[in-house]
Amino acid sequence: MTEQTPETELYDSLDGQVALVTGANRGIGRQIAENLSELGATVFAATRSVTHDVPDGWEHLLVDVTQEGEISDATDEIFQTAGRLDIVVNNAGVGEFDGDLVSESVKTIDRTLATNLRGPMLVCKHTVPLLLQNEGGRVVNLSSGMGALGEGQSGGSPAYRVSKTGVNGLTAYLHGEYADQGLLANSVCPGWVRTDMGGDDATRSVEEGADTPTWLCRFRPESPAGRFWRDRDVIEW
Ligand code: NAP
Repeated sequence: MTEQTPETELYDSLDGQVALVTGANRGIGRQIAENLSELGATVFAATRSVTHDVPDGWEHLLVDVTQEGEISDATDEIFQTAGRLDIVVNNAGVGEFDGDLVSESVKTIDRTLATNLRGPMLVCKHTVPLLLQNEGGRVVNLSSGMGALGEGQSGGSPAYRVSKTGVNGLTAYLHGEYADQGLLANSVCPGWVRTDMGGDDATRSVEEGADTPTWLCRFRPESPAGRFWRDRDVIEW
C-alpha cells in the first residue's frame, strides 16, 4: 500500500448480495463474475447475445450496453427476481488500438464511446436507484491507464483513451452525487491482460486482471470511493 491508500474493510463473503456484471461471457468480466459467484453473490451475468453461454447457477440477462431498453428490462428483471442489487460492474468494452485521431474512423469513435462511456452511464442511470436501497451499494467501473490524465496520452487509440477518461469522470460524478447516500463508486485499471482485447502478449492472466475489480466489489459501507485503483492501490486519475 502507498501512503495515499486509505484503509479498507472487506466482506469475506457476499452471501445474500446481488451483483450485475456486464460483458460477463468472456475475458475479465467472466472472471469477475466467477469470483463473485465463488464469494457467494447471486450473479446476474449480462451478455449481449442470447447465444453466449454462462455457467449453471448464474442468472443470465441479455444486455447490449448500447441499448437502453435492454438495460432497463434487465434492471426490472433483477428487481423482480432478487429484490435488491448490491454491486454493478461496468466491464463491457471495446477497443481498437491503432492510429491517431486523424486516422480514426467516425465509426470507431461512435462505437467506442457508445459502448465504453455511454453504456456505463446508462447502466448507472437505471441501476443506481436499486443500489441506493441498501447501504454501501458499489459501482466498479473498468477503466484503463490509457485514459489516465496522469499517464502519457500518446500512442494512438484516441477513442478508447477518451472513453476511459470519461469513465473516470463518471466515477467521480457518481461519487460526488451519491456518496452521501452510501454509494461506493470506484474506477479500476486491471493492467494489461491476456484477453481478446489485450492480446496474447499481455503481461497478466485474467485471474490477475480480475483481482482488483473483485476486491473493490468486496468493499464494506463507508470504504474508500471516488478513486482510481490498480493492484489494490490508488493511482492518479
Ligand atoms: P474482451 O475479452 O474483449 O471482452 C469484452 C467483453 O465486453 C465481451 O464480453 C464483449 O461481448 C463485451 N461487450 C462488448 N461490447 C458490448 C456491448 N455493446 N454490450 C455488452 N457487452 C459488450 O475484453 P477484456 O479484456 O475482458 O476487457 C474488459 C474490460 O476491461 C473492458 O472495459 C476493457 O476496456 C477493460 N480493460 C482491459 C484491459 C486488457 O488489457 N484486456 C486493460 C485495461 C482495461 P461479446 O463477446 O459479445 O463481444
